[in-house]
Amino acid sequence: MRLVYISLLLLFSWAGQLAAQTAPCGVSLADGAVIKAQMMENRRNINLAQINRQNMTYIPLSLHLVGNEAGEGFALGSNAIEMLCKLNADYADQNIFFYLHGPLHYIYDDVIYDDAYNNTGQVRMSSYKVPNSLNVFVSNNVSRSVAGYYTPSYDFVFIKNGYANGSSTTITHELGHFFTLPHTFYGWEGVDARSQYGGAPAPVIINGRLVENVDRSVGANCASAADGFCDTEADYISERFNCPVSTNLQDPTGSPLQINSDYFMSYSSDNCQNTFSQEQKNAMLSDIANRGWSNFPAPSNMDTLDGRQIQGISPINNDFAQEVNGQIRLEWDTTGASSANQWILTVERTFNGIPIAQVYFASVMNQNFTYIPRAALSNNHQFRWAVKPLHPAYTCSPSSNYFHFQTGFATNTTALSTAAENQLRIFPNPIQNGPLQLQLSSLENSSASLAIYALDGRILWEKQGLAISAGKQELQLQIPQLAAGQYFVLIRSDKQVWRQAFIKQ
Ligand SMILES: [Zn+2]
Repeated sequence: MRLVYISLLLLFSWAGQLAAQTAPCGVSLADGAVIKAQMMENRRNINLAQINRQNMTYIPLSLHLVGNEAGEGFALGSNAIEMLCKLNADYADQNIFFYLHGPLHYIYDDVIYDDAYNNTGQVRMSSYKVPNSLNVFVSNNVSRSVAGYYTPSYDFVFIKNGYANGSSTTITHELGHFFTLPHTFYGWEGVDARSQYGGAPAPVIINGRLVENVDRSVGANCASAADGFCDTEADYISERFNCPVSTNLQDPTGSPLQINSDYFMSYSSDNCQNTFSQEQKNAMLSDIANRGWSNFPAPSNMDTLDGRQIQGISPINNDFAQEVNGQIRLEWDTTGASSANQWILTVERTFNGIPIAQVYFASVMNQNFTYIPRAALSNNHQFRWAVKPLHPAYTCSPSSNYFHFQTGFATNTTALSTAAENQLRIFPNPIQNGPLQLQLSSLENSSASLAIYALDGRILWEKQGLAISAGKQELQLQIPQLAAGQYFVLIRSDKQVWRQAFIKQ
């Protein structure tokens, strides 16, 4: 039974890889027209000669991973941040550098999770956008087969889970749209040119759009037809295709097409794509200027990190995990990654050393330890954990090695609620939007940490350095907006732990 389960997992991940080559981009013909109009507008208004191309342009990118409200379906954070690594490799020759803006955002939202393509989902994603940054959302379910899309209406980029990694060119392509690039085959969306028009001259108009000719001499239509660029060859293929490609397509004058599969903005397979043309680069540079995005400050730290040198401190060596107050403390050293400010933690259950399920993940900020709820781990099983270090300008580090541990049978956890002085009151409860109001008593002055957990044990929000005074007190905390549901708060000082459940209406 177990073996069947493992092979099914392998099968699914193999199917996921296969799909990564085939799904198209979700930019509609109508949105493509809006994108092209902005590009033409920028071409009229922006004077490229005034832009210094030698300066690096730094662009802050907010990365949002969306799962459902039960905490399921999130893309792997360690994969998702590698998108920035791929992106920076693909934009390096343009002196454009994308860096992570703020922590990785985990969003628990059924509306987006149910369909990240329909308008309701798009409106909801739009509400999570972080101003003055490029917003990229990653989620798993879309109502039609797409790898990603850019929407001019809401001005964000969406990437489907399976394409949020360090090898797919989907992010590179969608950011091309974000910065006004149309598809090289603009106008042919939804038309199977090879089967409908192969071997004969193409029509002059397709889908109401002027068809691009092969000819590049004076008076050619390349500057206005299709993508509006003369240094990208005419391209009529609107399905994903493998390279090299040869077709019997002809332009309206009967000239045979030589389709270039190198362009990120074509639909060639990811492994064929490797470039933007100079005119495409000019258009992106113009849009960056038009957005007023030419002068974001450089990140303070550009160090590289190497997670492979990190040593686990505890639990390691297949030890039994020590449980304190219902939690297990994971700790690691920072060798090779001392300038990391964020760590993506994954904990997997293993069977005979083989990973069979991810059971916990978290994004840990500014410290090389974290607590995970014992309830997230089943009894008497084996697990492994790893951390991937990053800072805003470096998301390319490999993860640490895996550190192994096991759980025993359920033990008697310290009964928190028996200590009257550890009582925590939340008022009102249920809470509405607005600050979280707490009442507690402390034995001494201390600096505490506070975490809000989802029911499945995932940390949704953490605050370090919470000042607590001896005696009874009330605290007001501005917390991020939570989806309706049940949560609990855990506050921990050196001497005391407070815990209380609450409901968000
Ligand atoms: Zn596209």
